[in-house]
Amino acid sequence: MIKTACLGYHEVTDNVFESGFQRPLAMRYKHTTAAFRDHLDTIAANGRRPELVTNIDFSRPSTHLLLTFDDGGKSALYVNEELCKRGWRAHFLITTELIGQRTFLDKQGIRLLRQCGHIVGSHSHTHPDIFSDQTLQSMIWQWRTSCDILSQLLGEPCTVASVPGGDISQMVLSSALASDIRYLFTSEPWLNPRRVGDCWVLGRAAVKANTSTARVRAYCAGKNRHSDQAARVTSTLPDTTRPRSPHCSILSFSASFCVRDVR
Ligand SMILES: [Zn+2]
Repeated sequence: MIKTACLGYHEVTDNVFESGFQRPLAMRYKHTTAAFRDHLDTIAANGRRPELVTNIDFSRPSTHLLLTFDDGGKSALYVNEELCKRGWRAHFLITTELIGQRTFLDKQGIRLLRQCGHIVGSHSHTHPDIFSDQTLQSMIWQWRTSCDILSQLLGEPCTVASVPGGDISQMVLSSALASDIRYLFTSEPWLNPRRVGDCWVLGRAAVKANTSTARVRAYCAGKNRHSDQAARVTSTLPDTTRPRSPHCSILSFSASFCVRDVR
């Protein structure tokens, strides 16, 4: 069985007012540079090396660790420096309407991330707080508008995305398929990716500012602590994507670890 353990980060900054969203709830997802380095050291100590989703052979039983950074805040440039020191690569998911705003990446910064070998993908165009509440038409517009902007900026197709708010539904999956997205990150803490049409749907653990290194270590080790998460996760999926054995195929976390991206 293939496992993809995805850690979902947002901002890494010692001045929360300089990067990303400025809403109060957003502050919970901003890590200090020291805390982030501790997390990276913890990952390395566990023998894990972050991989890119596009390099994974999903047909082979194996376990992979992936790092994602949502929203496209300016602190992605610092994250890039830290990852490059280790020779690691990650996924940066951009809210394209915010490109160039004071606390968000500009076009040059986004190009730099790609040039450094990271995957740059979509986090929608306008970041609807509850993406799954949109109409199908609106969802498709969000993906296509955002992916068009990134494609023009980077000169390549945009096939990777993450869902604002994290919640998925049949309609969210349909909108991704209709927008030629091949890899979709959610904020449900699954370990096993699901194939839906031509799209791989991957769960993530949303890492908060108060998430301890012990929790990161547990995730790297594939610890499953709370089976009650399984019911919530599977209830969001269409029948064709439900795992055959939810209790052995879903990794769950403490409540403080799996809170979704609420911005
Ligand atoms: Zn977001």
